[in-house]
Amino acid sequence: MIEFKGVNKWYGAYRALHEVNETVAAGEVVVVCGPSGSGKSTLIRTVNRLEAIQGGSIEVNGQNVHAARKDLNALRSRIGFVFQNFNLFPHMSVLDNVMIGPLTVLKRDKPSTAQKAQALLAKVGLAHKADAMPAQLSGGQQQRVAIARALAMEPPVMLFDEPTSALDPEMVGEVLQVMKALAAEGMTMICVTHEMGFAREVADRIWFMDAGQVLERATPEAFFTAPRHPRAAKFIADIRAH
Ligand code: ADP
Repeated sequence: MIEFKGVNKWYGAYRALHEVNETVAAGEVVVVCGPSGSGKSTLIRTVNRLEAIQGGSIEVNGQNVHAARKDLNALRSRIGFVFQNFNLFPHMSVLDNVMIGPLTVLKRDKPSTAQKAQALLAKVGLAHKADAMPAQLSGGQQQRVAIARALAMEPPVMLFDEPTSALDPEMVGEVLQVMKALAAEGMTMICVTHEMGFAREVADRIWFMDAGQVLERATPEAFFTAPRHPRAAKFIADIRAH
């Protein structure tokens, strides 16, 4: 479903991604972990072209994402992306936030879009907040709306960039629960997260990154009990020490 082939990314003279060659199968959940600044966010941002790449290619569902003259809106509508800071439209109601993509990008009709948006809000436990404005919601609720908004485009893949990092601790669980349910339904997902409990429980595979490289790819069981790369071992030891 997602294939990175020889991907290299530079910010000026700084090499942020170094020959990344990885694949994600349909229905697979990959959790990307690694120290701060290792390139995790950069990696998933290249998948829907929030970042350009300077070498290699990325295919999503058979489409070359970085091909010249791609329609970016059409491309991004096929790849759900959930940001750390929710990024809801503040001047629109919750329901309108979920409807705007299907209405404007997919040109769907209003009644069926509204019905589907309501169903998605129910799915993330927020049917009763359809008419609220984002500012009236807690961070955990806003993030669940952001997930519903991404799902409204019926993307075959979902990318999560530290979706719980901006939340107060008591709200982390409700967002992880929604992600877990999505994984159980067979969604293809790449999640950048520091939630190692989630990684352990939900990931099919963990990618460990350091200095722009994926240094280890393993099942959660293998990664947490017997990491092979010394830097992965140190990362896990540091987590345990905390
Ligand atoms: P992570 O998600 O693992 O914390 P990032 O992908 O955010 O790492 O960043 C990887 C490296 O690239 C870091 O050293 C960061 O400072 C650098 N970086 C990220 N975005 C930019 C940018 N827009 N311009 C320059 N450097 C950047």
